[in-house]
Amino acid sequence: MTYPHTQLFIDGSWGPAAEGRTLPVFNPATGQEIGRVAHATKPDLDRAVAAAQKGFETWRDMTAADRSKIMRKAAGFMRERAGEIGRLMTQEQGKPLAEAKGEAMAAADIIEWFAEEGFRVYGRIVPSRGNLALRQMVLKDPVGPVAAFTPWNFPINQVVRKVGAALAAGCSMLVKAPEETPAGPAALIQAFADAGLPPGVLGLVYGTPAEISSYLIAHPVIRKITFTGSTPVGKQLAAMAGQHMKRVTMELGGHAPVIVCEDADIALAVKAAGGAKFRNAGQVCIAPTRFLVHESVKNDFAQALAKYAQGLKVGDGLAEGTQMGPLANPRRLTAMAEFHEDAVNKGAQVLAGGKRIGDAGNFWEPTVLADVPLEAKIFNDEPFGPVAAIRSFTKLEDAIAEANRLSFGLAGYGFTKSLKNADLLARRVEVGMMWINMPAMPSAEMPFGGIKDSGYGSEGGPEALEAYLNTRAVALMNV
Ligand code: NAD
Repeated sequence: MTYPHTQLFIDGSWGPAAEGRTLPVFNPATGQEIGRVAHATKPDLDRAVAAAQKGFETWRDMTAADRSKIMRKAAGFMRERAGEIGRLMTQEQGKPLAEAKGEAMAAADIIEWFAEEGFRVYGRIVPSRGNLALRQMVLKDPVGPVAAFTPWNFPINQVVRKVGAALAAGCSMLVKAPEETPAGPAALIQAFADAGLPPGVLGLVYGTPAEISSYLIAHPVIRKITFTGSTPVGKQLAAMAGQHMKRVTMELGGHAPVIVCEDADIALAVKAAGGAKFRNAGQVCIAPTRFLVHESVKNDFAQALAKYAQGLKVGDGLAEGTQMGPLANPRRLTAMAEFHEDAVNKGAQVLAGGKRIGDAGNFWEPTVLADVPLEAKIFNDEPFGPVAAIRSFTKLEDAIAEANRLSFGLAGYGFTKSLKNADLLARRVEVGMMWINMPAMPSAEMPFGGIKDSGYGSEGGPEALEAYLNTRAVALMNV
């Protein structure tokens, strides 16, 4: 399937931007332009916002059962089309085809879970203090049209978590998806359109992110903002939303600690944390990044992780057998070179990788650094790339203090066979999601989100729906 030119989806149909502007889309494995994406400006946004208001009024007044039927149908299309959608995503984002196809399949699971959960938007009847004729009700209503901003690392997954919850709650949503990876999100929206979603319930635009966010956040029709991306941008958007008193969900950056205890199963730790580290070339907000390994097992763990990294097949995600693709854009390649040089200059040992591969495409070797000083940039800033940085510890309390030192609080990992250690890790590591003796497993039914500078709100579990609902108190006297 050839890579398409992606248009805007407004009021139920695809079309070019009003001013005819487009942006190029590049294949990160080759650096070649493969397509273009329409660039929206104010006239497009005005039309999209008016459609979102109209779509909201239609969708709000449909039953949960009718909404669920459409959502399930869309999930079915995602499953049917996962192979071809995966190919598009690999071309625009770089991840191996199996990962891209898996992302489209996972989107179907997420939509289906939310389609079910939409039946469980309950209110309450609260007994009156003094009068039996008084009926006190707590009602849950959709907040209204939502503006969503999503990044390029999971072109579909980052959109579907927002869309699934918003639609299940009865909201309409205008998505500003990533200009660098536009075809994946467009395929998701197409699945909903084919499933019979009424016009205006979902819209999709691309353009200049800061222009679109400042316009939509201030717009009176938009009642809620949801953003996934970096902490600095998230803070700017949350501040802007505060000025306009808009509800907000923020899924921001992380710097996940991996604590490998003295009694850990080292083979399991290497397989689980190594797999999570290099998946999507490390461009994952919950990727393990700061490896804190007990002094007694540090060498065994570091050597085994280096061997794992060296064994990975890196290449074009479309090629058979590729286990790690290129970085999604040249900015990440520059960032990897900077992180690497800084760590090595400060004394880190290079156990694997550390260089760009070739000069076409954004390939960086799976890299393992040991004895990384605390002051190295990679132990402080989110790396968002295929680099594992290792340090040792002697007391578990010190490892936990190090895990909690940064302002991030998204994901964490622990490996231990001791119940006491596992319990301490579960209770004391300050993260929104903690996985012990396993890789990350963020299912639709579990809360997904961070604490501290990693944001607030959740994109999984019943909490995800709550984020799109207003709670209202209504009292009714039977006279
Ligand atoms: P960036 O911080 O400029 O952009 C991150 C995302 O935010 C992009 O999708 C971008 O389109 C969007 N964005 C930027 N400014 C915006 C604005 N004013 N309004 C609305 N959206 C805006 O830089 P980048 O180079 O694309 O990514 C760099 C860093 O972003 C990474 O190192 C990583 O820390 C973070 N990131 C996080 C996630 C995540 O899943 N949490 C995903 C992608 C990137």
